[in-house]
Amino acid sequence: MTAAMDAIRAAIAEGADRDTLAALELPETIRAAVVRKDQEHHFDGVDPEDRDPRETLHVEEVPRPPLGPNEVLIAPMASAINYNTVWTSLFEPVSTFSFLERFGRESELGARHDLPYHIVGSDAAAVVLRTGPGVTQWQPGDRVTVHCNYVDLERPEGHEDSMLDPSQRIWGFETNFGSLADISMVKSNQLMPMPGHLTWEEAASLGLVMATSYRMLVGQNAARMKQGDVVLIWGASGGIGGFATQFVLNGGGIPVCVVSSPEKAEVLRGLGVEHVIDRSAEGYRFHDDEGAPDYAEMRRFGKKIRELVGSDPDIVFEHPGRATFGASVFVCRRGGTIVTCASTSGYLHEYDNRYLWMHLKRILGSHFANYQEAWAANQLVERGMIHPILSETYPLEEVAEAAYRVHRNLHAGKLGVLVGAEKPGEGVLDTDLRARHLDAIEAFRALA
Ligand code: NDP
Repeated sequence: MTAAMDAIRAAIAEGADRDTLAALELPETIRAAVVRKDQEHHFDGVDPEDRDPRETLHVEEVPRPPLGPNEVLIAPMASAINYNTVWTSLFEPVSTFSFLERFGRESELGARHDLPYHIVGSDAAAVVLRTGPGVTQWQPGDRVTVHCNYVDLERPEGHEDSMLDPSQRIWGFETNFGSLADISMVKSNQLMPMPGHLTWEEAASLGLVMATSYRMLVGQNAARMKQGDVVLIWGASGGIGGFATQFVLNGGGIPVCVVSSPEKAEVLRGLGVEHVIDRSAEGYRFHDDEGAPDYAEMRRFGKKIRELVGSDPDIVFEHPGRATFGASVFVCRRGGTIVTCASTSGYLHEYDNRYLWMHLKRILGSHFANYQEAWAANQLVERGMIHPILSETYPLEEVAEAAYRVHRNLHAGKLGVLVGAEKPGEGVLDTDLRARHLDAIEAFRALA
C-alpha cells in the first residue's frame, strides 16, 4: 500500500475533519480485487459448477479510479461478497467485460469503465474522500454505506422507479471501480448514512442483499407482503434469504424458512422463526435426471408446509431457480405470488402452467432496488429493527477464498471483506444502540 493511502487511513482512524481529509493527496495507484480480460476464456469448456474463482479473482495494484460530475471517490473500510462477484469471476453466464465494453460505447464518461481489468464489489461501508462537480449532499469525511443502483436518470422511463431506467446498472458488476478496492468511485445518489451502531464490516454487508429483499417483499414494486401472509423463503439463512426472513418477521408475516442444515435451522429458530424445513434432511428431488417433474415430491413438500403452518404460502421468495421453481409454483396458494430475483441453479426454468393459470397465481420478476427502497431499508437498520447477517470476515488478500466459499455454498449469511479497516470490530459510534441489539447482531456469527 502507498504512503498516501497510509496517510488517508491514519486520518480516518483519527476522525479527521472534512478539510483535513480533502487536503490529503490521493494515491496514484490502489489495491483492488480484479478479474482480467486476458483470462476471459480461462474457463471455456468447464462446467460452471466446476469453475474456481480462486483462479481468476486477483488482488493487484491498479490506477486510482477517475472522478467526474456527480461522482464521489470513497475509501471502502469494508466490503462484502455478493453472488455477482462469483458470477464475474466465473465469466458466467457472460463475461462482465461485455457490460464494460457496452458502457464504453455509450458515452465519454462510460468509456472510462472499459478497461482490461474489472474492479469488482457491490457493497461498501466507507468514508467520502472527494466529491465531483454537482455533488451537494455529501462531503469528505462522511461515513456512508453504498447501494449498487448506478443510474443517471437522464431518460424519462426511470423517473417513477429508477430500476426501470434502460441505462440502470449494478455498480461493481456492470460498471468498473467497485468496492473491493482501497478507493472506489460511485455516483452521489448511491450513498446513504452508515448506521452508527455497526462495525465497518457489518454495515458493508447490508446494501445489495437487504435492498433486494426489501423490494421483493416490502416495497410497492413487487409482492407487497401483508400482516399474516405466509411466506416461503428459500435459502433463508443466505444473503437475500436472511433479510427476507427478518422483513417477514418484522412486518407481521409468517416465514416458512428452507435451509440445508440443522445448524442453519437453529440460528433461524434463535431469531424467532417457528417454521423451518431442512431440505437436506427431507431429501426433496423435484425432478428426475431427465428433468421430468416429480409431482409426488412437490405434494410431499406442500404437505410439509401445510403441516407446519396450516395453509399454503401466500408468497414464495424464489431465487434458486431451475432446481426449485416448479415446486415454488406448485405449492404457492391459489391467488398467491411467486417473486423471483435470480436463478442460482440455472435460469431455464420449467413449471407446470396449469398450476399457475387455473389457480390464478402470479410470477413477479424483481431486481435490486431503487434509491428510495434502499434508503428505507437502511433506515430500518439505523432504527435497530433489521440487523446484519454477517457470519465471517476475510482480509482483502483472501477475497478469492471468500468468493470460493460462496460459490460452493460453504457459507451462511454474508461474508465480509476488510479493505481499509485493520481488524473486525472497528467503526462503531453508537455503543448504546449496539448494546440493545447485540444478541440479534451476534446471531448469525454462530454460523461461522
Ligand atoms: P447465498 O449463496 O448467500 O444464498 C443462497 C442460498 O440459496 C444458499 O445458501 C442455499 O441455502 C440456497 N440454495 C442454493 N442452491 C439451492 C438449490 N439448488 N435448492 C434450494 N436452495 C438452494 O446467495 P444470495 O442470497 O446472496 O443470492 C442468491 C441469488 O440471488 C444469487 O443467484 C444472486 O446472484 C441473486 N441475487 C440477485 C439480486 C438481484 O438484484 N436480482 C440481488 C442479490 C442476489 P441452503 O443451502 O441453506 O438451502
